[in-house]
Amino acid sequence: MDIFKIFYWAGLVLQIVIRAPYQKTWKNTEKTDQRVSPTEKILLGLLTVAGFILPLIYSVTNWLDFANYSLPTWMGWLGVFFLACNLFIFARAHQDLKSNWSPSVQIFEGHHLVTNGIYSAIRHPMYASGFLTGIAQMLLLQNWLAGPSYLIVFIPFYFLRVQAEEKMMLDTFGDQYREYRDKTGSLIPKF
Ligand code: SAH
Repeated sequence: MDIFKIFYWAGLVLQIVIRAPYQKTWKNTEKTDQRVSPTEKILLGLLTVAGFILPLIYSVTNWLDFANYSLPTWMGWLGVFFLACNLFIFARAHQDLKSNWSPSVQIFEGHHLVTNGIYSAIRHPMYASGFLTGIAQMLLLQNWLAGPSYLIVFIPFYFLRVQAEEKMMLDTFGDQYREYRDKTGSLIPKF
């Protein structure tokens, strides 16, 4: 197994570990609003195929070898760098969002708008880390089926998700969110 595949799987495991405590809290929280469209559900399923199933088949079988590509070694290391950036942002975002985190677009009992920490400059750090994951995967898993798949699915997912999420935040927090939105960047930090 090449070293870049190992980095890919290590990154995935670390993301699961970082998220686990928040996932536990989320399960026990009372939800007051939930907005998940059928299209988003389909895209979430496709993200699992693109970020887990295809990489797994690529890593443990030779079935996808016909679609391999080969990049210079430094590009693999660039993938490791993007993966590290992704993990850093992912962890920071979870730490700042705390119990306000949810895997889908939801509002909870006692939900409050987080505007501190990483959220003081960027509204969607977790989705930014999703883009970084997609770029890293393309560089680490050098296969046309298992490599760019995550990024390809994540792009429409992002636009759909952000539209629904920001509408829900506006409906819930009104002017407070409007003001926050004007001061921050969506994916690129605004200082
Ligand atoms: N879009 C954010 C959060 C993803 S988690 C990011 O990319 O980091 C999705 C949930 O987080 C949404 O259901 C919403 O309820 C909650 N959320 C998003 N931004 C928030 C904020 N600034 N304060 C509190 N909750 C937020």
